Amino acid sequence: MVCKINMIGLKFNNLTVISEYDTDKHNKIRYSCLCDCGKIVIVHGTNLRRNRVKSCGCLHQKQLIEGLKNKQHGLWGTKIYNTWRAMIRRCTDKNFISYKDYGAKGIKFDPNWEKFENFFSDMGSSYVDGYTIERLNNLEGYFKGNCTWIPRKDQPRNATSNKLSMKLAIEVRDLYNYGYNIFELTQIYNCSKSVINNCVNNISWK
Ligand SMILES: [Zn+2]
Repeated sequence: MVCKINMIGLKFNNLTVISEYDTDKHNKIRYSCLCDCGKIVIVHGTNLRRNRVKSCGCLHQKQLIEGLKNKQHGLWGTKIYNTWRAMIRRCTDKNFISYKDYGAKGIKFDPNWEKFENFFSDMGSSYVDGYTIERLNNLEGYFKGNCTWIPRKDQPRNATSNKLSMKLAIEVRDLYNYGYNIFELTQIYNCSKSVINNCVNNISWK
């Protein structure tokens, strides 16, 4: 006689065994299980005990998403990624145009945000496409509690009056080749679209 293990009430990963469901043709018991997410699934006892099935399937989905975020987050070059990169550079890169208003003034960011994945996990869910990151308190740095997303201004202030120097023009071209788009460059350099356009297309930097 096969000794039956009482499985009712036991938890295997995300699944809690509620009741016996049936016995399959190989005489193996299948159980009704409640997943942490609220779904009920039917699973073989052996699959539960050997960790072959850990959830209703939602865990796999979640791991896929996490995996995407962590390994190759798949967001390289997107607007939120570029926003993050510009934030890091404003605070750390002495050669970056707006460093003087950020890093030079002691504006820092949450050290965890050095990794895009961490920034994304803190700020990604509230992100609105095309919005830019803003600090609530300008005296403080970039961290979750002090950051929000706001719409970008269509045209930066004094946009039409700003020209680039040759040095800045080289920087603009570098950033453009690095993946920044024209619109972001108008924001960073406070220039009109045509100035940036001419610059990246090597027509003129003036
Ligand atoms: Zn589930």
